[in-house]
Amino acid sequence: MPDRYKTILLFGAPGAGKGTQGNILGTIPGFFHMSCGDVFRTIDISSDLGKAFYDYSSRGELVPDELTVKMWAKNIAARVTLGEYKPKDDLLILDGIPRTVEQSKLMDEHIDVFKVIHLTCDDEKEMFKRLRRRALKSNRIDDADEEVIRRRWKVYEKETYPVLEHYNRGDIVSINSIGSPAQILHDILETVVPIQNAHFKAFEG
Ligand code: ADP
Repeated sequence: MPDRYKTILLFGAPGAGKGTQGNILGTIPGFFHMSCGDVFRTIDISSDLGKAFYDYSSRGELVPDELTVKMWAKNIAARVTLGEYKPKDDLLILDGIPRTVEQSKLMDEHIDVFKVIHLTCDDEKEMFKRLRRRALKSNRIDDADEEVIRRRWKVYEKETYPVLEHYNRGDIVSINSIGSPAQILHDILETVVPIQNAHFKAFEG
């Protein structure tokens, strides 16, 4: 499978900071960040897919696997066509996908995963605090309701956490997600920069 996208996965519970770190990385030349939740949120809410996304996400549930991966594959192909993402020059930073073991199997056809960055957190209260802050700032229906947040946590533990077993243990890097964004970014870059140097030529002098 020679043409798969060279990828780093940002992995972790809701509120672990995948989006924050992904957004920062995405501003650095040579990285292309894509958040599955953000892609879903750009879909017209009156379309069939938009309605399905609204229904599932407002309950704190996952959109079905095949639908998600198809939507994702279509979106990334469009980004390549538009020239926003250049697979030959950019390391792909994915957050929010794969989110189930089935999705990780379906995604194997599309992505070559070099490392999985697991943003860990043993302070559940801090994660809830972050999600509530995000609800106030970004008007997200799925963050506003305590019950929905709790459901997302359960879904994460049951459906998403087992995704780690799909990848080689040696490719999983755990990083503590409690700390300053700069510290966490520093820790992520320690893993990611050597991969960029090894696989992309664009930044050679
Ligand atoms: P968070 O990381 O806080 O859970 P996201 O923005 O990643 O939030 O996702 C918001 C919602 O979008 C999820 O709760 C789910 O309903 C839907 N979603 C996002 N990514 C996926 C995915 N890979 N598979 C299924 N549903 C998804």
